[in-house]
Amino acid sequence: MTSFRRTISKTVSFMLSAAIVCATVFGAAFFMAERAYAKDATVKGYEDQISDLEEKQKDLKNKINANKNESGKAAETKAYLDELIYTLEQKINASEALIGELERSIAVSEQEIIDCEAAIETYSEKITLRIRMMQEDNGAGYLGIIFGATSISDFFSRLEHIKTMIDYDKKLKAEYKDQKQQLHDKKNSLEASMVLQNETLQTLSADKAEAKALAEKANRYIEQLAADEQAYKAELEKAEKAEAELDKKLTEYLKSLQNQNSSQVVADGEYLWPLPKGQGWITCKFGGSDPNNKPHYALDVAIAAGTPIYATNAGTVLISGWHSSYGYYILIEHGNGMASLYAHCSALLVKAGQTVSRGQTIGKVGTTGFSKGNHLHFEIRKNGVRVDPLAYMAPQAPENIL
Ligand SMILES: [Zn+2]
Repeated sequence: MTSFRRTISKTVSFMLSAAIVCATVFGAAFFMAERAYAKDATVKGYEDQISDLEEKQKDLKNKINANKNESGKAAETKAYLDELIYTLEQKINASEALIGELERSIAVSEQEIIDCEAAIETYSEKITLRIRMMQEDNGAGYLGIIFGATSISDFFSRLEHIKTMIDYDKKLKAEYKDQKQQLHDKKNSLEASMVLQNETLQTLSADKAEAKALAEKANRYIEQLAADEQAYKAELEKAEKAEAELDKKLTEYLKSLQNQNSSQVVADGEYLWPLPKGQGWITCKFGGSDPNNKPHYALDVAIAAGTPIYATNAGTVLISGWHSSYGYYILIEHGNGMASLYAHCSALLVKAGQTVSRGQTIGKVGTTGFSKGNHLHFEIRKNGVRVDPLAYMAPQAPENIL
């Protein structure tokens, strides 16, 4: 029955026009976490827990996707088996009908054989009677004939007639014997067909039972997959809630920390476009969707690897380091609650704690972290909330938007 199974492979391909996939950006708390980078064990603890929860969510999403794929295959197998069971039932019905017909034909043959035997018996008796009539002593048996004869010639004529009748009876008896033999042969043939048909029916019934068992198994598997999916989804929801709670706690904690620290540099000039003017193109605007269908609160600008990245304004470098999603990135605090972030860099040219001037080259464009093409992921944050960078520097941005 393994032949019933079908392997269905589905290939899903995603076409991304610019081949740029940007990092899933973290919550607001992330930014502020960097304010107290590495020094605060509490912050580190929160970050580790959040990171673990995000890993867990990723794992669960993979499991849910794999489960969906498997469910699709199982449903196709089940549909195929149902179809097969239906076909087998049709064949079983036809086979049973044929067996019924064979049974009726055999019964008819049996009756015909009985009729033949009766006819043979009748003719045997007739023949015996006529012979006895002819062999009676002194021809007394002929009395009936003689009695009815009107002349000698008539007598012989009648005697001849009896002989003819005996011959005729013998002929008929022989014919019935032949017919009986033919009926026997026919009956044997019908019985042989019946044996074969019964075997066919047994095979069909066995196939049906096996197909049914497989269909039930497939059904149980489908039910199990559905139950697993529910469990994964519940677990995912739990992890998402836990992350949101941690994020909130971290935000509160960081706010308390932020109150104790204030930026040394307060930027007052306009915000500069962080890349050489007239180069690159915007592949994802603020508020768009990233490949995970999560809202994207940043600008993505596709541009050649190694292109210099400029500080959008004067400030203090809060972090210049590595993150699994952002890759190599830089976070600069500009004072008055303003900050900017530059992700997926190929090189970092500043260090945490360093002050930078507006327009200073701080790093180089790359595709590190969760990125699938050279681009700059650029964020501006106001009081820890990401805002649209174009609102600050639209006239300087390249006009072309992918
Ligand atoms: Zn981005």
